[in-house]
Amino acid sequence: MSQAKKFILTLEEVNKSFEGFKAISNLTFYMDDGELRVIIGPNGAGKSSMMDLITGRTKPDSGKIEFGFDTDLTKLNEAEITRLGIGRKFQTPSVYNEHTVFENVWLSLEGSRSVWTTLFSRVTPERRERIYQVLKTVALDGKADWKAGALSHGQKQWLEIGMLLALNPKLLLVDEPAAGMTDEETHKTGELLLSLEGKHSIVVIEHDMTFVRQIARKVTVLHQGTVLCEGTVDEVQNSEKVMEVYLGRKKKH
Ligand code: ADP
Ligand code: MG
Repeated sequence: MSQAKKFILTLEEVNKSFEGFKAISNLTFYMDDGELRVIIGPNGAGKSSMMDLITGRTKPDSGKIEFGFDTDLTKLNEAEITRLGIGRKFQTPSVYNEHTVFENVWLSLEGSRSVWTTLFSRVTPERRERIYQVLKTVALDGKADWKAGALSHGQKQWLEIGMLLALNPKLLLVDEPAAGMTDEETHKTGELLLSLEGKHSIVVIEHDMTFVRQIARKVTVLHQGTVLCEGTVDEVQNSEKVMEVYLGRKKKH
């Protein structure tokens, strides 16, 4: 047994080009089960592309992408990867504005059943309890009957996180959740993500350094499609390599 340690996610030497442009370049990344990991990096660093590769939205040109012990994600399509327990939250919220907050989570739980089949069926007490449990987690239980369209941008983001949580994913990928949020909403989002730590493995892509500082355990800095450095927030912020990339200059001594 050369590799006794079990990672929830393993990427090794992954490469992906788009029309000759190398979006992902020899990317190697490991994550422990139950970890809350933050990925930062300048625009175009390949952060979202990395999520596309993990979730099967795009396929690597080469390299290994594995979930758990040995599930080869490069061989599976998006739906199969979702069913394995990998949930992804895109940058912009996509909720059903015309349906209530409760119905949105319900629709997510029912998955492939159509909107009408679901909404004209009866919700079982177990389902109702599960939906309220999720709404409580994302602090929307008091707004269960609101139309999702009436929620603030931040609340919509939480609802969408709730819709993913309803499916109880093992791994949750969240792309820039705080973008467009107020400071208070951002802070609440941080608390929400921290409350999920240990129950789910979570990858968060984020720009806002106050937010990163609030939630970060281990930070991975991505640059030109590869890992520039990894460590605590302080280690990363004091890294010469990171300063050069972000500020275009060497650290002052
Ligand atoms: P980040 O999320 O770190 O800002 P992205 O992963 O979105 O960066 O993008 C990295 C680079 O890859 C960008 O130059 C982007 O234009 C390119 N890219 C990403 N996905 C595609 C795609 N599906 N087709 C063409 N180019 C893409
Ligand atoms: Mg992105």
